[in-house]
Amino acid sequence: MSRLIAVSNRVAAPTAGKSAGGLAVGVLAALRERGGIWFGWSGKTTARDPGDPKIKRAGEIEFATIRINKDDFERYYNGFSNDTLWPLLHYMLGFFRYSRAEYEAYRRVNELFARKLAPLLQTGDLIWVHDFHLFLLGAALRRMKVAQPIGFFLHVPFPSFDVLRTLPGYEGLLSALASYDVVGFQTGSDLAAFHDCLRQAEIGGEVHGGGRVTAFGRTFIAGAFPIGIDVDECQSVAVGNFDSDDIQRLAYSLRARKLIVGVDRLDYSKGLELRFRGFEALLERYPAAHGNVVYLQIAPPTRTGVRTYTEIREELERAAGNINGRFAEIDWVPIRYLNRGYPREQLMSILRLADVGVVTPIRDGMNLVAKEFVASQNPDDPGMPVISTMAGAAKELDAAVLVNPYDRQGVADGLQSAIAMPVEERRERYRTMIDVLRRNDIHEWCRRFVESLQDSASGR
Ligand code: ADP
Repeated sequence: MSRLIAVSNRVAAPTAGKSAGGLAVGVLAALRERGGIWFGWSGKTTARDPGDPKIKRAGEIEFATIRINKDDFERYYNGFSNDTLWPLLHYMLGFFRYSRAEYEAYRRVNELFARKLAPLLQTGDLIWVHDFHLFLLGAALRRMKVAQPIGFFLHVPFPSFDVLRTLPGYEGLLSALASYDVVGFQTGSDLAAFHDCLRQAEIGGEVHGGGRVTAFGRTFIAGAFPIGIDVDECQSVAVGNFDSDDIQRLAYSLRARKLIVGVDRLDYSKGLELRFRGFEALLERYPAAHGNVVYLQIAPPTRTGVRTYTEIREELERAAGNINGRFAEIDWVPIRYLNRGYPREQLMSILRLADVGVVTPIRDGMNLVAKEFVASQNPDDPGMPVISTMAGAAKELDAAVLVNPYDRQGVADGLQSAIAMPVEERRERYRTMIDVLRRNDIHEWCRRFVESLQDSASGR
């Protein structure tokens, strides 16, 4: 069996006693099965030459990490990745900015990854590159004559051509994608947007049957591979921690009130202020919610120090204070806003305790929290997710309550219908959703992608 070489900006080595979530679970399982390397940034920068990768072995897996030059890192990560690509890919051009110097640093870091990875590769390896930090890695490896199959998976949305062309040099990004053998997206809409970009007259690409596309002189596979979660892991973590003191204290503090929960990184794509205002509309439109519904929002700060994030934080604090000031009673505060991270074990149990999971991003590639919410529920008395139609997860979880995050009253009505939904209907919708999650869990996702990469090798 071919070794798997996973490459991502950050490497998630397992930590004893802690449960891994998201991508890490699937990639680690695939790496354990096939043997291989997880390669990425060590989390440290250096003012000197980054030197050789630091390698730690755990069973069949090698974790290989490198340092990045300090000046390049700032421009590559906070600059081009987070201030240019992130808003562009999420259709949020109001936050988009571009600097050629930052693009150059991004290119240098992608080339550094290629230079440090290439010597570790063996004939027959399958290379799987993750996400928008590393768009250019495949092309850089090809320039170093790496001939093994290389796949790329984009965890965030892929924009329509008219949005993509905002990026100076967008053709370079498309041609870099054509260096891969398999390019994977979260949903059919992202794939369709990619096809449309390739078909533009100035690109001159073609879309064939069977997932094959041709562009920039290469034929490769482009497909939709919606990422899943580890349903059993999620369920057992949620159940396992449910009786802990913290969760029981939370349950006690609610008395018999309904609990709405949101769990997100504090990012503008998550639509948190709109969500707070949607909850405010629930209190305006449904007086029965007064004193009877609590909304708990967990949103730890990310990318602290970046101005936009500081602004979002202040906006949310204002909105929460405002709504609580308007509606709170001596024994009830409607919004509990917690601006910090929680261990995964606690999060999954909090989701299990909730009657409603509110997942209303303005735009999201998939949104794993939506899937984790469903997986962590008690099948006999499941909570109901309210999901934004702009999240990739809404495509698979269409048995949830779906809302447009911009429609304040629509969000309020969605929350109300989830709160008031009879248990038989919740059970039925839960069964539909959990079946979808089980059919396409994280292991199936990994298997499909790696198989596709393997096929691309035999088809060459
Ligand atoms: P994104 O990747 O944009 O942050 P996702 O919902 O797809 O959004 O994935 C977020 C992952 O991070 C989920 O697995 C979720 O459980 C985890 N997560 C989100 N918020 C927190 C938090 N406050 N503390 C710990 N983990 C979190």
